[in-house]
Amino acid sequence: MSYDEKFQISTLAIHGGRVPDAHAEAVVYPIFQSATFEQQETGVTKGHSYSRVSNPTVDALEQAIGALEGTPQAVCFRTGMAAITTLFLSTVKTGDHVVLTDVVYGGTMRLFREVLNGLGIANTSTDTSDLEAVERAITPHTRIILIETPGNPTMKLADIAGIAAIARKHGLLLAVDNTFLTPVLQRPLELGADISVLSTTKYIEGHHATVGGSLACNDERLLDRFRLVRKTVGAIQAPLDAWLTLRGLKTLPLRMKAHSETAVLIAEWLEAHPMVARVYYPGLDSFPQKALAERQQASFGAMLSFELKAGPQEAIAVMNAMKLWIRAESLGGVESLVTHPATATHADVPVETRQRLGITDGLIRLSVGLEAAEDLIADLRQALDSVFGGNSERSANHEVCQQAG
Ligand code: PLP
Repeated sequence: MSYDEKFQISTLAIHGGRVPDAHAEAVVYPIFQSATFEQQETGVTKGHSYSRVSNPTVDALEQAIGALEGTPQAVCFRTGMAAITTLFLSTVKTGDHVVLTDVVYGGTMRLFREVLNGLGIANTSTDTSDLEAVERAITPHTRIILIETPGNPTMKLADIAGIAAIARKHGLLLAVDNTFLTPVLQRPLELGADISVLSTTKYIEGHHATVGGSLACNDERLLDRFRLVRKTVGAIQAPLDAWLTLRGLKTLPLRMKAHSETAVLIAEWLEAHPMVARVYYPGLDSFPQKALAERQQASFGAMLSFELKAGPQEAIAVMNAMKLWIRAESLGGVESLVTHPATATHADVPVETRQRLGITDGLIRLSVGLEAAEDLIADLRQALDSVFGGNSERSANHEVCQQAG
């Protein structure tokens, strides 16, 4: 069956790139848990030879992510970091230079610091919310720019279309790590980027059950290069994890809508709380780049951070007092998670750099899940009350909380 590319995103997530099961017409595509595939005659296969190279279930996921991204088949990996590593092994060599967002995911920074720099691939981390700073960071050896927007954990945004124009002018590739928003809420390739990067571990699979990653682009030669490097380093997604990710993907648009609606209510509630000094959420009027978020995002997403009018001990005490929010790394699943960036995601970033980036020791990051907003707010309230004394909240906040129900 062929599908109309003009479908709405919620239909595309279910039917886009759907691979029919030729064997038994199963509505849900099966898990091909097999390392190897029989050859009809020596050297003749039905398209798959060995699961480090390709696998039918991984293939089905790649068709589906490609349909959502609006590209040919995506290329799927064992983790988001395997995707990012393959991106650089495919596009740069010794002597080349890469421009990165200064608040790029810590694992990406580690990849450069511990591996790629030692292989003679240099990088400059720059404030990609500033187009002039991006242009200044480019050297004659630069080959690719990787940006992350919103950036973690202060949600700093980068203007994708603006940076795409700079990349074009200098003949560079632009890759966007779109893990926080997914193609449902932000479409980097339509804004001029060349490559979309996802950690499918997060919203795409959406249930905190797997780790995975993907690369999507419109250049078939680049896609082939990603496949070649993936085969060579052995970084392909596993069949069961691909199947779980494919299942999660079908509800992605519905989940992103619910995640974002709840996040707005939580951000507003936190901002009105007398013990909260600052909330970083692109949907708030106080967020300096709200206009950019409105321009390049379909909604504001479900990641936010806040700072207390207190020190790091109180921040950790508030986190420890939470009962519904789960203290765990990662993001983007149905369960709401809370993390302390200074001791978790950004623990290996030097203190001075953290301070410069606004990642203070009192900052708390929330990944808003799919529980009822009123329950999540009630848990935040009891945690804050237990640390700062009961009923510290302004009475006006109760109205926001009631709307949240
Ligand atoms: N990109 C972003 C924005 C992330 O938050 C993460 C992980 O937290 C990654 C990439 C790496 O993905 P994975 O953990 O699946 O390797």
